[in-house]
Amino acid sequence: MAVAYAALIGASHRQVRAFAVRQATLQIEDMLVTHRAVHRYLEEVQKPELYRLQREGSLYPEYFSPEVLSSTFVARTVHGYAQEERSALGRPDVYFKLASDNARNPLNEADAFELALLRRMNDEHLEAFHEVVEVEGEAFLYVALPRGATGPTCMRCHGDPADAPAELVARYGAERGFYERQGRHRALLSLRAPLAPYLEGARGLLVAFALGSLAVLVGGFGMVWFFLRRLDAQEQLILERSEALREASRTDFLTGLSNRLAFVDEGTREIEAARRYQQPLSLLMLDVDHFKRVNDTWGHERGDQVLVAVAAVIREQARASDLVARWGGEEFAVLLRQAGREEALALARRIHRRLNRGPLIGDLHITVSVGGATLREAEALGALTCRADEAMFRAKAEGRNGCVFSDR
Ligand code: GH3
Ligand code: MG
Ligand code: MG
Repeated sequence: MAVAYAALIGASHRQVRAFAVRQATLQIEDMLVTHRAVHRYLEEVQKPELYRLQREGSLYPEYFSPEVLSSTFVARTVHGYAQEERSALGRPDVYFKLASDNARNPLNEADAFELALLRRMNDEHLEAFHEVVEVEGEAFLYVALPRGATGPTCMRCHGDPADAPAELVARYGAERGFYERQGRHRALLSLRAPLAPYLEGARGLLVAFALGSLAVLVGGFGMVWFFLRRLDAQEQLILERSEALREASRTDFLTGLSNRLAFVDEGTREIEAARRYQQPLSLLMLDVDHFKRVNDTWGHERGDQVLVAVAAVIREQARASDLVARWGGEEFAVLLRQAGREEALALARRIHRRLNRGPLIGDLHITVSVGGATLREAEALGALTCRADEAMFRAKAEGRNGCVFSDR
C-alpha cells in the first residue's frame, strides 16, 4: 500500500514537472510569435519603405540607423520593453537573445554554449534545441532556434564593408558583422524560461493532493481497523456465549452435575478409550429410595434440596476423575475410569456410609439403592447402563439402601 502511494505521488510529481515545462513552452512560444511579428514588420514594411526613400533620394545614400534598420537591434529593444511589461504584471523574466558568432554589437555575442549550438546548426543542420537546464540550482526550459539563413538582401550590410552604408561602418567598424556567406546561419534565437513559478503553484496542489489522499487513506484504514476490531470483539462474544450455551446444555441446572446428554457423550468416549488402552471401566446407577414420599410429605422444594444434597454426597465421595451425572429424576450415574468391580463397590459403600451416618437435611434420612456393572468386551454404553439399572432394581427388591453388582 505504501509503495502504491509512493508511486502515485511520484507519478504526480512527474506530472507537475511536465505541467511546468508545458507552461514554460507556452511562454517561449509567445515570445517567438512576438519576435517573428516584429521581424516581419521590419523586413516586409519598414526596411522596404526606408530603402524606397533612399532610392528616391529622400534619404541620403549613406544613411544607416540600427534603431530602424537592424532587426537585431529592434528585436532586442522590443523584448527589453516586453520584459519590463511582464515584470509589471508579476510574470517571470524570459531570457531572449539573438546570439551571433559574428556580432557587430558585443551585446549580441554568443556565449560558449550558444556558439556550440550555432556550429551544430550550420554543420549538422540542427533545427531546434529544447532542454530543461539547471542554472545556479534553478530549472529552466531552454530553447534555441536558427535565426534563418543569410540571404542576398542581407549582404549589403553583412557582406563586404565597402558595399555597406558608410554610417554603419562608422558606427560599428569594418571588422565585425561582415564577410558573411549566404546560406549560413549567423545567429540563433536563444530563449530561456524558468520552471520555478509554475512548479511552485503546481507543487502546492500536489502537496494538497498528497495530504488529502493520505488523510483519506489513513481514515479508510482507521475505519477498516475499527470495524475489524468490532468484528473481532463480536466474534469473541459469540464464541464465549456459544461456549456458555454449550456448557449449559450439558449441565443439570438443579444439581450442577453433568446431565444425561453430557454423560452419554463423554461416557461413549470413555468406553472407546478404555477399550483401546484395555483398562477397566465401571458404572454405578443410584436411585433415591422412596423419594416420592419426600415430595409428598415435604413438598417439591424440599425434594429438590434432597436431590442437590445427594448429588453433593456422590460428588464428594467419587474421585475427581469419575464422571458423575444426574441421569434423570432422582437417579444418578457414576462412570469410574480405570476402576473395576472392587473400586466401584468401595464407592457405593462410601456413599452408603455417608448417608447412613445421620440425617441429610434437617431430620430427613435419605438412602439410595445402587446397581453396578463393569464394562465387558465389545459392550456399548447402552448395554452397560441396562445392566447397572437391572442391578439397581434388584437392590430395590432386596430391600433398598444396598448395592447389587451385575454378574451377567
Ligand atoms: P423407589 O424407592 O422405588 O425409587 O421409590 P420412589 O418414590 O423414589 O420412586 P418413584 O419413581 O415412584 O418416584 C420418583 C419421584 O421423583 C417422582 C417424581 O415426582 C420425583 N421427581 C423426579 N424429578 C424430580 C425433581 O427434579 N424434583 C423433585 N422434587 N422431584 C422429582
Ligand atoms: Mg427412580
Ligand atoms: Mg427412587
